[in-house]
Amino acid sequence: MDNRLESIISRLNNRPRVNESPLQSPTVHHVQRLSQLYQSAVINNGTHVTPVQVDSDSDPEAEDDQDDGVAEAQHLDHHATTSAVTSAPAVAREEIPVVVTDPDMLHCSICHNSLCPPIYLCDNGHTSCTSCKTRSKNTCPSCRTPKGFKHWRGMDKLVESMKVECKYRWCGCRETFMFTKKAEHENKCRFTLCFCPISLCQPSTRCDYRHTYKNVYEHFYEAHMFCSVPFFYMEDLDITVEKTQKRIVLRGEDDGSLFIFNHDKQEDGMVLSVDCIGPGAFTGAFVYRLTAKCIESYSCLTMESVAEVFGKWEEHTPKNYLTIPSGFPEYKLQVWIKKARPVVV
Ligand SMILES: [Zn+2]
Ligand SMILES: [Zn+2]
Ligand SMILES: [Zn+2]
Ligand SMILES: [Zn+2]
Repeated sequence: MDNRLESIISRLNNRPRVNESPLQSPTVHHVQRLSQLYQSAVINNGTHVTPVQVDSDSDPEAEDDQDDGVAEAQHLDHHATTSAVTSAPAVAREEIPVVVTDPDMLHCSICHNSLCPPIYLCDNGHTSCTSCKTRSKNTCPSCRTPKGFKHWRGMDKLVESMKVECKYRWCGCRETFMFTKKAEHENKCRFTLCFCPISLCQPSTRCDYRHTYKNVYEHFYEAHMFCSVPFFYMEDLDITVEKTQKRIVLRGEDDGSLFIFNHDKQEDGMVLSVDCIGPGAFTGAFVYRLTAKCIESYSCLTMESVAEVFGKWEEHTPKNYLTIPSGFPEYKLQVWIKKARPVVV
């Protein structure tokens, strides 16, 4: 059994019970049943969702409806309510901790984003979010069923009632929130997974370290400090870069924060920008200025922008950048970074 499910069940077993059955705690019973619900959807290869048989008596209606995924999904509510009323009235309103062993069940089968009501289902059990349903002109792209998608109201209710833990709990986030707010939270969670950026400035070095931004900053300091260029906030940093050097890691002397100085050769010149390695919560938190000063004249090129933020840096076209045209005379580069708002690094 999944370790987390085991620990939840052991916690439940150790707390005072309401309406305790001699055989099994009703709460534990529900945990296992609800887990089976998700498993059954997967075991059936998405053809339909089998309603959870919570009562010991079999329900002939459930078998009759085997081919109708939507109708069965709607039975789900009926069964959940019936079971609460008939078998465990004293715990009917109690929250039920659940471990979802197949998270695909809660994601759109087309775009794989978390499902948010209204949720749709095709006759062959493929789920869809509203935007995928619209984009696919109501034809399931997985099976091309002619009947299209139907509104799966039972799943709407289930999803609307679910509270989840942050997926970065193992990194230290203790927040819980409604499932429908999952994406919103995780986009701004301070515990988002960040990756060691050493291979950006040393392509031959492989390092798989990943953790919260704080730990990645500490790790970088301990393992690769000499591969970075230190800077202080709000102080111009003269930076020397080889023509072939594409990335330099900048490390804040004050707080260990990590930034990537990008230096890409394009057809019309060099394209420069700065990114931050950090969680989504850092979006908009750092402003940088790049200046290319001619060595033999007073002319210069400069730009100021907000650093884009990456937990895992990937090749991308920067939203804003400084282009130094190919014919620009010899120059020296300066980078300047400041915190645009108070941010705990
Ligand atoms: Zn979708
Ligand atoms: Zn389908
Ligand atoms: Zn979180
Ligand atoms: Zn590393």
